[in-house]
Amino acid sequence: SSESAQEESSAMRMIFIGPPGAGKGTQAARLVAHYLIPHISTGDMFRAAVTEGTPMGQEADRYMKAGQLVPDEVVIGLVRERLAQDDTKAGFMLDGFPRTRPQAEALAEALNADNLTLDAVLLLEVPDELIVERIVGRRSDPETGEIYHLTFNPPPAELADRLVHRKDDTEEAVRSRLEAYHSMTAPIVPFYEGEGVLKRVNGVGRPDDVTSAIRAALG
Ligand code: ADP
Ligand code: ADP
Repeated sequence: SSESAQEESSAMRMIFIGPPGAGKGTQAARLVAHYLIPHISTGDMFRAAVTEGTPMGQEADRYMKAGQLVPDEVVIGLVRERLAQDDTKAGFMLDGFPRTRPQAEALAEALNADNLTLDAVLLLEVPDELIVERIVGRRSDPETGEIYHLTFNPPPAELADRLVHRKDDTEEAVRSRLEAYHSMTAPIVPFYEGEGVLKRVNGVGRPDDVTSAIRAALG
């Protein structure tokens, strides 16, 4: 119907790429509130599976703890199932997927099969030397999902007891996550550049300034 065609044309389908700690989660939360689209974070989905103790969670946990990527088959299956859900008709914000070439190809295939395209691939750029400090100081509120930083976005004192410090947010694990980013994820950037959908955004600066830069890049 013309109604569903209209729905589809206004749907925003976006991807967030960037090193660990670049600010993807922080910015994605703002964007999904603006565009009213689901926030699909593979990291959040894996952490939920770990907490639930599902077999997939147990498998993923071994890789996550070590700061390594979860195998492609596992991630691709998870995202395929998620994208098949009805709420993604309004669009989606994929945060932390794809992270490898096979993941990018699987996503392209899934979208092609439904005649859909990506509106934007946001690349949030932050130099390695700023990453460790961002990661080590990160704390999150499991009740609201809010992301804090001990120095850059200090949490209210009354929340201190319930805040979580991710077990892969150690200096050691972040070094291997950064290595995985440069060797496995950065190579997918030219793929999207070639498709003309890549938007590079400077992730250094106050979160509000980064949000403005993203809005400007999206036009
Ligand atoms: P990612 O999802 O890319 O791993 P997060 O959004 O979780 O990144 O941010 C990582 C850490 O850096 C968090 O502690 C967050 O509060 C902090 N942070 C996010 N954006 C900025 C920014 N622009 N400047 C300084 N710190 C930031
Ligand atoms: P960050 O916010 O620091 O970028 P995420 O929360 O996105 O980290 O991911 C945490 C961990 O979950 C990764 O280090 C990896 O082990 C696993 N993971 C998340 N998304 C993917 C993916 N697309 N491919 C492989 N592993 C993933």
